[in-house]
Amino acid sequence: MQTIGIIGAGQMGSGIALVCAIAGLDVIVTDLDEHAVKRSIESIAANLGRMVSKGKTTSAEAASALERIKGSTLLTVLAECDFVIEAATENVQIKEQILRKLDAIVRPNAIIATNTSSVSVTRLGATLNDPSRFTGMHFFNPVPLMALVEVIRGLQTSDVTFDATVGLAKRIGKTAICVKNSPGFVVNRILIPMINEAIFVLHEGHASAAEIDEGMKLGANHPIGPLALADLIGLDTMLAIMDVLYRDFNDSKYRPAPLLKEMVDAGYLGRKSGQGFYTYP
Ligand code: NAD
Repeated sequence: MQTIGIIGAGQMGSGIALVCAIAGLDVIVTDLDEHAVKRSIESIAANLGRMVSKGKTTSAEAASALERIKGSTLLTVLAECDFVIEAATENVQIKEQILRKLDAIVRPNAIIATNTSSVSVTRLGATLNDPSRFTGMHFFNPVPLMALVEVIRGLQTSDVTFDATVGLAKRIGKTAICVKNSPGFVVNRILIPMINEAIFVLHEGHASAAEIDEGMKLGANHPIGPLALADLIGLDTMLAIMDVLYRDFNDSKYRPAPLLKEMVDAGYLGRKSGQGFYTYP
């Protein structure tokens, strides 16, 4: 396995590209938005620069990692890839559309994975002619810092596909946990409703955002407060995950907080838009 394709040059796609390139793999990052591709390569270069200044890599290694990353707005450039990771917007229709197109482009023996936070891996796999080559590869944000990858087995995922995905996770320095497909998988099923509850607490006026975050940092020993974490994840992604949990479990305990919906409607998406529960100049 040498060439990794990534679809979606947002915060996750960029992070995945960086860790793959640092591990010596060739990477092709694609997005339908050419500005996103440009921003992605710039942010990867900036991140590599920070890694050099912190002594985590040498400038020669950083330069060759950057050289291994190519960007494009065309899905067809992924024809040469051994493994493709879909990391586009958390929307089931967008993902299904991408996968249908990709199926006709990549080689029959290439593996296709999704970085979805919540959508059924079994459902997405069913868009392919051969669903056995499809798996979930769920990274955490920020990808270069977070050690975990959840490898998710859909109903049709083959052992070969699953083992190769675990192997790739290890090769890029991550710890994999093996998970069966279900809404939100393991970590987000626990984490995202907790953050949603923090948004209810804020909306009901029991404490300020800073106090809620301070409470969970000092009282639950979390490294980052839930509202700051929501801003990091992206409030649109948060809402999309809650919508999937609510719909797929058909249980009112997963209803998205009204304030979360309101903020997404306003275009307050967290760090990526400059405004969320906090302001990012
Ligand atoms: P993002 O909004 O930063 O980036 C999404 C990118 O997808 C954008 O650049 C957009 O232009 C692109 N895109 C949309 N439609 C496309 C298409 N048809 N073809 C190609 N590109 C397309 O989002 P993100 O935070 O990077 O999340 C991406 C995926 O990763 C989602 O499925 C999300 O649930 C998952 N994820 C996110 C986090 C997180 O903390 N943000 C963590 C783990 C997994």
